[in-house]
Amino acid sequence: MTDFTPQPSCATPEPVSTLKVEDARQKILQQITAISCWRKVALRDALGQVLHEDVISPLSVPPHANSAMDGYALRGEDLKHDSTSLKRVGSAFAGKPFDKTVNAGECVRIMTGAMMPEGCDTVIMQEQAEVDNDLITLHGEHHSGENVRLAGEDIQTGALVLTAGRRITAADLGLLASLGFAELKVRRRIRVAFFSTGDELRSLGETLNPGDIYDSNRYTLHAMLTRLDAEIIDMGVITDSPEALRQALLQAAEEADVVITSGGVSVGEADYVKQLLDELGEVHFWKIAMKPGRPLAYGKIAETHFFGLPGNPVSVMVTFYQFVQPALHKLAGGGYHEPIVLQAVAAENIRKRPGRFEFQRGLLRSNSANQLEVTMTGEQGSGILHSMSHANCFILLDEDCDGVAAGQSVTVQPFAGLI
Ligand code: AMP
Ligand code: MG
Repeated sequence: MTDFTPQPSCATPEPVSTLKVEDARQKILQQITAISCWRKVALRDALGQVLHEDVISPLSVPPHANSAMDGYALRGEDLKHDSTSLKRVGSAFAGKPFDKTVNAGECVRIMTGAMMPEGCDTVIMQEQAEVDNDLITLHGEHHSGENVRLAGEDIQTGALVLTAGRRITAADLGLLASLGFAELKVRRRIRVAFFSTGDELRSLGETLNPGDIYDSNRYTLHAMLTRLDAEIIDMGVITDSPEALRQALLQAAEEADVVITSGGVSVGEADYVKQLLDELGEVHFWKIAMKPGRPLAYGKIAETHFFGLPGNPVSVMVTFYQFVQPALHKLAGGGYHEPIVLQAVAAENIRKRPGRFEFQRGLLRSNSANQLEVTMTGEQGSGILHSMSHANCFILLDEDCDGVAAGQSVTVQPFAGLI
């Protein structure tokens, strides 16, 4: 733990950028309309895809009352106070029902999942039964209806099971299979083109000359887009040349629903992205009051949405998570859901100056008292990718926050699988 005292609020605030994170997100979301094209896919291929229309149940699940236990099925009215003796008249297995009516004083040996025989409404566990050939004696206190799963207990015919716009999960696949759906209508995947900009960037396999670095943003973007189930067009590295960038932007806008670039969006002499977007379409450029990821361009080239992310690797991931991800969800038809945030105890001091909203990288875990606790994952600079790689959450520190002392509560936003 570092020797640190939270800085007093009289510390010089950073120059204020004009736009707040939430306002920027809302401005972007206002521009997005969900795609409406759909296609039919086999049930298994629907995992992670966006449901096109509501799913109404064509049947009840379970379709018939059945036993929740291995035991004896009987008529509840036959149960006596402490001991009940009944005559066993047959057996019922899952998929092989007992096909006669069970009368007063009778019972049927029944297995889990077997359809309840006609006349029976109760199952007593086999562990509570004493067997003497066909004479079954049940001990203990029981009540009518126990250990029976009723028809339609999970889902009733005509019930709304899943709503349009939902991203299909593993449990949904099981639910849909239980209703007999072999195919499903889902929205078409959104197409996302992206490229990196920078004369210093080399692709993997190339030799690094002095001043060069490997392009890492294309890998993080590719991974996050894969998790979002987008159709990906990787256009590689484009040099800091207005002509090459113009060509790349036009081609990307032609082929994709969304274009994402990283780098060249700031105010350096080789930063042409904003300028070109002004020329080719409409652009909103913001210095968002956040750290990392202050410069962000959002705009449109014809009908294609454009995100110009900053170049620093951590800024790319933070801005993607906070702005691009909700926009892509909405565009894909799935809407925007506020990410879950939790309160956790800071295990160490967290440095912050008032002024901008900060997304620091943390490791969230349960401590020995089963409380959520968050530790920092090291240096927090916008180029320090290892602190992102070791993290499983963002620590959200609002504009006014001037540091957090160990033991205080902070708000965290778990990555929830995207990163
Ligand atoms: P820029 O916004 O183009 O000025 O880039 C800001 C910083 O991020 C510079 O140090 C760049 O070298 C670095 N950077 C830009 N793009 C990438 C990339 N694709 N992979 C890794 N680092 C990058
Ligand atoms: Mg650059």
